[in-house]
Parts: sequence; structure tokens; C-alpha cells
Amino acid sequence: MNIFDAKDREVLVSRMDASTYDLVIIGGGITGAGIALDAISRGMTVALVEQNDFASGTSSKSTKLIHGGLRYLKQLEIALVREVGQERAIVHGIAPHLVHAEKMLLPLVKDGTYGKILTSLGLKVYDVLAGVEKEDQRRMLSRDEVLDLEPLLENIELEGGGIYAEYRTDDARLTIEVLKTASRFGAHILNYAEVTGFVEENGQIKGLNWYDHLTFREHVVRGQQVISAAGPWVDHLRKKNGSMSDKHLRLTKGVHIVLPYDKLPVKQTVYFDVPDGRMVFAIPRGRKTYVGTTDTDYQGDPGDVRASMDDVLYLLDGLKTTFPNLGLSETDVESSWAGLRCLIEEDGKPASELSRKDEIFEADNGLLSIAGGKLTGYRRMAERIVDIVVGRFEDGGRMFRDCMTKNIALTGGIFPNSRSVADYQGKVEQRLSGLGLDQGYASYLVSNYGRQVDDVFAIYQLREMGDCDKRLLMSELQFCIHHEAVHSAMDFLERRTGRLYFDILSVRKYGDSVLAEMAAEFGWDEVRMGKEREWLQVGITKATVFE
Ligand code: FAD
Repeated sequence: MNIFDAKDREVLVSRMDASTYDLVIIGGGITGAGIALDAISRGMTVALVEQNDFASGTSSKSTKLIHGGLRYLKQLEIALVREVGQERAIVHGIAPHLVHAEKMLLPLVKDGTYGKILTSLGLKVYDVLAGVEKEDQRRMLSRDEVLDLEPLLENIELEGGGIYAEYRTDDARLTIEVLKTASRFGAHILNYAEVTGFVEENGQIKGLNWYDHLTFREHVVRGQQVISAAGPWVDHLRKKNGSMSDKHLRLTKGVHIVLPYDKLPVKQTVYFDVPDGRMVFAIPRGRKTYVGTTDTDYQGDPGDVRASMDDVLYLLDGLKTTFPNLGLSETDVESSWAGLRCLIEEDGKPASELSRKDEIFEADNGLLSIAGGKLTGYRRMAERIVDIVVGRFEDGGRMFRDCMTKNIALTGGIFPNSRSVADYQGKVEQRLSGLGLDQGYASYLVSNYGRQVDDVFAIYQLREMGDCDKRLLMSELQFCIHHEAVHSAMDFLERRTGRLYFDILSVRKYGDSVLAEMAAEFGWDEVRMGKEREWLQVGITKATVFE
């Protein structure tokens, strides 16, 4: 059985029905994924259930940076900055094709958020805390040096700037590769499996009721220990479990917009001031530049977060202030996404003391819940909570290994360093030319799949000739169905390939072909096909229509 082959799902479900695991995890975002890999590699038996698709919550809606969080330094969250700062190099090391080193340009403007001295000192402290190599450490720049790097900034009251090192990734791809790596160690991992209740024995949690959204059946999964890594849904499950405390989540919405690169042709990432005193990123990615984020309180359904016209105008306002000559408007916005930050609020404490750190909640019946934190810190969060689980097992006389995830390369990521990624990408370019495909696909393919591009090419060779672009897309689709548990067109178009955000034209052009290929593969009937068409349309509307 290949756990991530969508066609093997029924076998997996039967095994899960019949097993009792050391650990069952709720939530297939980056936090749950990290916990699954940590626990299974220490020797536990592990199951993970995700109500929707993997990374369908916050873990596909972030700014997609593996970063130390400069703004947390401003809030004096020193420990957080140090931890995530140091994690960046580790996450880069285990997936160098997916986590790319990137320079960030921070222009300093008159009366901006950061002054020259504060920036110079802050970036220095940031480098020291994060242990950044000397050659990558921050450099302060004169006005002319900033303009050399980014001529688009010439029409603002520029006083100078700083350039510093961070990493860029794709959050949904990182999540799926961590999950696939956990499955290679033997973890049982299932999407479209919603936890609906808790099974208790003698006042202790011993399993979960879950509902299968693909077969419409109820199941139970049994586990000695249960962790909820349900992101914005953590409190919903804590309430269901009767274990709310005086600490709870406060959700804030963050929106990103995507523009064609030639409309906002920044040479590297720019982290710039917006009129209300916040700062946002403009990040080039292939033929697009994305911009974010906003930060507004959110009370609605965590499963239906979307960008409003106000969000879009806020980001455009910021762009117009920093890049006044580009004449950007709403019509330049091609796509968008919106996600929810989980901040930890404590009864009786003022809003200014909201924490962005991760928090672990331990319930009397044994349920462990974890929320908050960052994509960047997922590995350390996992280590902390799995240590608690190990401690519980040790009390009962069972021992497990120490955390070893810093040395586990993620699937597709068996590269000693960035140079070997570049070499591999060169070979992919040659193969693309040989196949009559645009070489421009190389960086997309290698960032997405790493060495698994070889598997995509193998499928490509077997497919019928015809429109090369479509043939490549369908080869990716086949790879994702059989190796990445894709069950719905949106799993593929939004989270496995990022096309909904970064190539919406291809979604409009090939959406129906993707549906037809999946219908043939899964034997969908007209009812299912109707739903899939609707979900595709809703996905496109959410990304492109703003009210
Ligand atoms: P989620 O990804 O939300 O996963 C929780 C999962 O649990 C969901 O998939 C959900 O479907 C599932 N679930 C819920 N209830 C159930 C149930 N009953 N049964 C089964 N499954 C269930 N961090 C960075 O390091 N860098 C950044 O650049 C960055 N930018 C950000 C920008 C924005 C706008 C936001 C909002 C966050 C950003 N973050 C960033 C933070 C980062 O994205 C989050 O910390 C991280 O994605 C949270 O992952 P998670 O797994 O805890 O939550």
C-alpha cells in the first residue's frame, strides 16, 4: 500500500479501523505534519486525520517565508526570533529545493516604521540571534545603493535602507512533503477525515470519532495519546472536549494579492511601509509578484476566509505610496488568498499582550492541543509537544528516541546544498527543451517536486502526444493522484501546484481537462462531477472576486 496513493485509500482506512496507535493527530497543516514526522521517527506508531485537504487551513495561506520575523523583534519577542531564526537554516538544509535563500530589501523612508539606527541595530541583533553566516549578514545601504538594487523606489522620500537574509518557500508544498516523509516512516495519514467526537475510557481520551467526507461513513480511530493541531479550529475542538481554559485563540485575518510580475517588477523582495504604520512584503515569484499582508480581527467561519475589497484596496494603497509611478489598480490584481493567524489571548490581560508564540494546552482527559507559532518554527513546536507525549509513555515504562528531524531530508529534497539544486535544475531545463517544453517550467517544477520531477517526466513520456503544456500538467496530476493523495481538482490546482494563485490563467484554461482526467481516474458520477465543477468555480471566485 502507498499511503499517498489516492487509489489505495480504502485499504488505508481499513488498516486504521483495525489499529490502535501510540499517537493520533488531528489536523494536516504544517503543525500536525511536523508532529507526525517527529513522533514516527522516534519510534511511535502514528495516525493523522485531516478534515479537508492537507494544508487547506492556514498552511497554504501564509506569506510563504521561512523567516525570523523581524517585526517580532520590534515586539521584543526575543526567544521567538532566536528560535525561528535558527530554524531557517535547518529547514533549508532538509529541503533546499523548496526553501530558497532570499535577500530582503528594507527601504527607509522619512517618518517610516524603522529609523536608520533602529534598523541597523535591529538587523544586527536579528543576525546574531539567528546565527547568520558572516557573508550573509545585513548591510546598511545609502539612498543610491538602494536605488541601484531597486530603481522602482526612486519617487519616494528614501533615506537609505538595509538588506538582510531570509528564506522563501511554498507552505502547502512544505506541508505535503513533511507528511509524505512521515508516511515513508510508516505513519498513516488521511485527508477528508473530520474528527467529530472524542472516545474516552476511564476519563482519558483513547480515540476519536471521525467522518469520511469521501464515502460518507463514520469511523473510530484509537490512540493512546491524542494531539489536536487544528489551527484556527483548536478552540472549537477544545470546547467539544470540554477543556477550555482562561487562554483562548484570537483570530486575525491576513490577505495577500497577486499581480503580474511585469506590473510590479521588483528585483527582490521589498519589505516596505504602508500608510497606517504597518509593513508589508512585495515578493517576486516566477511571473508574478505577491503582496501582503493585512491584519484585521476575524470572527467568521475559519473554513470560509476570503479577501474583501477593503483588504485589496489597503494593499494597493500601500503599493501606490511606495511605487507611485506604476499606476497600479484593482484590475491588476489577478488572484488572492486569505488566512487566519492564531494569537493567544488570556482572560484579564490587555490586547497588547497577545502572544504570537505557540501554546500547548493540556486537558484533564489527556488531550493535548497546540496552536499559534509560525510555519518556520514547526519542527521545534513538534519536538516540544512530542517530548510531552514521550514523557507520558516513559511514566508507563516505554522509551522512545530523542527528536531527530533536523537530519531527515524531506521527500524530493535529497540535495547536499543549493548548488546541487541548481545543477539538477539545469538538467531539467535540458530535458524540457528536448521535450519541446518551455525551459521556464524548470524552476517551478524543481521547487515543487525536487527530485520527484524525474517521476513526473517518466509519466510524461508514457502519455499521448499533443499540447505539450497540457501533457505536462496531466503528468503532474497523475503524479499527485498516485503520490500526493489528491482527491479533488482543487487539491491539485490550489495546494499541490499553487496554480490558483500563481497561474490562474492555466486554471481557467485547463480546469475542465483536470476534471475530465480525474473523473476517468476515479469513476466519478454526474453528481460528483457537478460538485467538483462547483468547487472549482467557488475556488476561482474566492481568489478573484472581492466584495
Ligand atoms: P492550519 O494550517 O490551519 O492546520 C490546521 C488543520 O486542522 C487544518 O487543515 C484543518 O482543516 C484541520 N482541522 C481542523 N479541525 C479539524 C477536525 N475536526 N478534524 C480534522 N482536521 C481538522 N509563518 C511563517 O513562518 N512565515 C510566514 O511567512 C507566515 N506568514 C503568515 C501570513 C499569514 C497571513 C498568516 C495567517 C500566517 C502566517 N504564518 C507565517 C503563520 C503560519 O502560516 C501558521 O503558523 C501555520 O500555517 C499554522 O499551521 P497549523 O498546522 O497550526 O494550522
